[in-house]
Amino acid sequence: MNNIGEILEGVKTMGIAGHVRPDGDCVGSCMGLYLYIKAYYPEIQVDVYLDHPRPVFGYIDCIDEIKTQYEPGKEYDLFVTCDVSARDRLAIAGPYFDTARNTACIDHHVSNPGFARINHIRGDVSSASEVLYGLLDPEKINRSIAEAIYTGMAHDTGVFQYSSTSPETMRIAGELMKTGFNFSRIIDESFYQKTYVQNQVMGRVLAESIMLMDGKCIIGYLKKKDMDFYGVEGKDLDGIVSQLRLTKGVEIAMFLYEKETQDFKVSLRSNGNVDVSRVAVFFGGGGHTRAAGCDMQGSVYDVINNLTAEICRQMQEPVA
Ligand code: 5GP
Ligand code: MN
Repeated sequence: MNNIGEILEGVKTMGIAGHVRPDGDCVGSCMGLYLYIKAYYPEIQVDVYLDHPRPVFGYIDCIDEIKTQYEPGKEYDLFVTCDVSARDRLAIAGPYFDTARNTACIDHHVSNPGFARINHIRGDVSSASEVLYGLLDPEKINRSIAEAIYTGMAHDTGVFQYSSTSPETMRIAGELMKTGFNFSRIIDESFYQKTYVQNQVMGRVLAESIMLMDGKCIIGYLKKKDMDFYGVEGKDLDGIVSQLRLTKGVEIAMFLYEKETQDFKVSLRSNGNVDVSRVAVFFGGGGHTRAAGCDMQGSVYDVINNLTAEICRQMQEPVA
């Protein structure tokens, strides 16, 4: 696919969805596509499904129009997923995907198996939002669409810092900026700013973090009872693993939090040599070379032991 228009012929109803616990790239790409369809294909009845995005994304146009509930019986001519690395990450929109007459996947995860009928997956591109930009007519990108796409690009590149950031990423960001939105505010309020409680929790996780493997690996964790104590949910914990990764000498950072008793969400980050997407895939998850995740069960010690055993094994493997 070269342009989104190619898959819109004859389409009367369209659904768009992102992954569970949507991050900035997920919200940005889904909303960017939604706003584009609304603006330039008024004959298409379009819906966007996102699992309760954080209020920090409230500045994105029409974000109040997102749907968070499944309505049985509804079927779409076309269902498009953005930033979704695997079918089981679709959350409530899964049944719509299964019953849609045509499906497409716009993504940038190396681990994506290509689960839709039309798969536009660019594993070398920094964000799904950047992949989406390549499918739109640049001259049709108005300020609202630009704001959404820029949000996704800024979030998944760690504000244009990670090695996935390319000259093309910067060129596109520059083009988007020309539409005149307040980029400093977007970066500050949606990316860096934390609530007081979020900062307290991050401080606590950092203080209790453990260094392993001669300082090459750092692990932070939060148990359910502590999440309940602070009144935080998974989506309040963004940024903790990134801070752990910034510890001098560390090659791999891991952060785990207990979603339900003995059921952990694991986030992995790598500074280079270890491909954490392989570690995540080994445990049934997925992601990118330097940022990946999975779900794991057991006590916090079981999870840490299993993770570190697999990381040690991969560290000892000769680099391909
Ligand atoms: P995070 O640690 O920020 O939740 O996720 C890092 C990256 O790994 C993201 O690109 C995310 O989509 C992917 N990822 C996280 N958890 C999972 C998972 O359970 N399954 C899959 N397939 N990908 C995941
Ligand atoms: Mn992404």
